[in-house]
Amino acid sequence: MLDTWTLLIIDDCAADRKIYRRYLLKDPHHSYQILEADCAEDGLALCQEFRCDVILLDFCLPDMSGLEFFDQLKHEIFATAVPVIMLTGRGDEEVAVQAMKQGALDYLVKQHVTSDVLQIAVRNAIKQSYLQAQLSNIQERQRLIAMTALRIRQSLNLEQILNTAVAEVQQLLKCDRVMVYKFAPDEGSKIVASSVFLGSGEDVDLIAAEAGQKKQEYRVQNVGVNNYPVPNSQSPTPDVYELGLSNYISLKEKFNTEANLVVPINISYNGDPNPHLWGLLIASHNTEEPQWHTHDAQMLYEVSVQLAIAIQQAELLAQTQAALKKEKQLNIFKSQIIATVSHECRTPLTSILAAASTLVKHGQQLDDGKQKRFQSIIEQKARYMSKLVDNMLLVNQFELDKAKFKPMPLDLLQFFSDLIDQEREAVSESHEIVFKITGNVKGFWGDRGLLQQIFINLISNAIKYSPAGGTVEFHLIGKESQVILHIKDEGIGIPMADQKNLFQSFSRGSNVDTIPGTGLGLAIAKACVELHGGNITLSSKVGQGTTFTFSLPKQHGK
Ligand code: ATP
Ligand code: MG
Repeated sequence: MLDTWTLLIIDDCAADRKIYRRYLLKDPHHSYQILEADCAEDGLALCQEFRCDVILLDFCLPDMSGLEFFDQLKHEIFATAVPVIMLTGRGDEEVAVQAMKQGALDYLVKQHVTSDVLQIAVRNAIKQSYLQAQLSNIQERQRLIAMTALRIRQSLNLEQILNTAVAEVQQLLKCDRVMVYKFAPDEGSKIVASSVFLGSGEDVDLIAAEAGQKKQEYRVQNVGVNNYPVPNSQSPTPDVYELGLSNYISLKEKFNTEANLVVPINISYNGDPNPHLWGLLIASHNTEEPQWHTHDAQMLYEVSVQLAIAIQQAELLAQTQAALKKEKQLNIFKSQIIATVSHECRTPLTSILAAASTLVKHGQQLDDGKQKRFQSIIEQKARYMSKLVDNMLLVNQFELDKAKFKPMPLDLLQFFSDLIDQEREAVSESHEIVFKITGNVKGFWGDRGLLQQIFINLISNAIKYSPAGGTVEFHLIGKESQVILHIKDEGIGIPMADQKNLFQSFSRGSNVDTIPGTGLGLAIAKACVELHGGNITLSSKVGQGTTFTFSLPKQHGK
């Protein structure tokens, strides 16, 4: 079926109007609804009443000149230009040129008008105005997309970017809801931004299911001004959902509903030619029959490209900031090491030197007991320094993320019994170490070396910070998929204000007084617990004692 166009002929000569009507109704390519007026006033009235696609305007009218009419039409009646073809007499070309300058689309010399000439002129005028309208639409859309992109890319904060994007796209597409869905296999894929508040239980599955109830298959409508047949409209109309999900069958099933318009958010990392599917940008309507058009899908797609750039920039910034922070921490750590080494090593070194030189110079005059005492000072202080160096190397490894976790099956009962036996041999009689086991601790995989570090550091603290003696209780509890361990003492306790920092290297409580230490043990224990995929906490009261609790999954990294 041919498209029907509305055409207005304004000419005071009835015979001419009849000829033009006849010529146009013969057009094999277009069909016309033709309106006629014999004076400017009637012509203007018709223009107000009907939406005309093209006007044939006689230059010489009884009540107004064609130019005056044209001027009035342009300024008073239509906001958007209607294509006008001026009809002039022979010798009036100058007027015609003037009319063209004012915006008339074409002119015809009446004496030369034939059926073909008129049909072609009118068809061209319609086509030209259609293309003009298309162009303005595209420019307007590009302007809106550019503004949206600008707003999205104004921030470098990911959350802000996503929230701006959903709000802007909702405005741009005039739809009910816009969401960003992020793929994160580790943390669980989910909606990370929505232009409309999502209730706590509401998720994209629900939205998809809800929209999926509307059974009919919805396809994009191809729209144009008056559906003017543009060349590529002959190709089959694409299904909107194909845009984002054609390569992802399971996602297609999830999101492919008539209410959702879905495009991918693709990010290329380090110039990788295969982009990584970061997530989806989803626009949806609540109405029964959503009116998605091809240009909506295109706009959404273009915004998603801009959004992807903004996301990538935000991620890069976050990575750089994290690297900088790490770098700063390492620098602080290095200066602390230097300060600690010079401070902590000076005293034992002085003692070693003094004891050694006394032995060298006066060894023969000293009795056996005194000699042994000096030797034991040298040994003790050297051991202390050796432990200090070991701890610093270990913490350095953790700081550089170089420590390895090598899990193996472990009989925890045996493992901790051996360690506790060793510890009992080393402590004085004033301390009692109690070992308690509850539940099933079988099926545990862990790293021997790391577990030993945790145990030694916590138990040695419990003993060291209980100078008055008392009981140290080590309680091992086996659960279904994890083990929990408590180490409880009756020592000096830790002031509340100090508790939150103690797991950082070189941090010490304000109540340690003369009890020696460098503040590395807890940092080491925490890093070892975390390599096991567990966590560690403490509870303490000054003067009453402290309990450290750590839990470890039974089969981390197996
Ligand atoms: P080292 O590096 O030799 O272990 P340290 O014992 O001082 O030195 P951490 O084991 O890291 O270092 O402990 C940090 C601080 O936490 C201690 O200095 C102490 O103030 C406090 N602390 C740790 N365990 C206990 C405990 N069981 N009772 C009281 N205070 C404790
Ligand atoms: Mg310690």
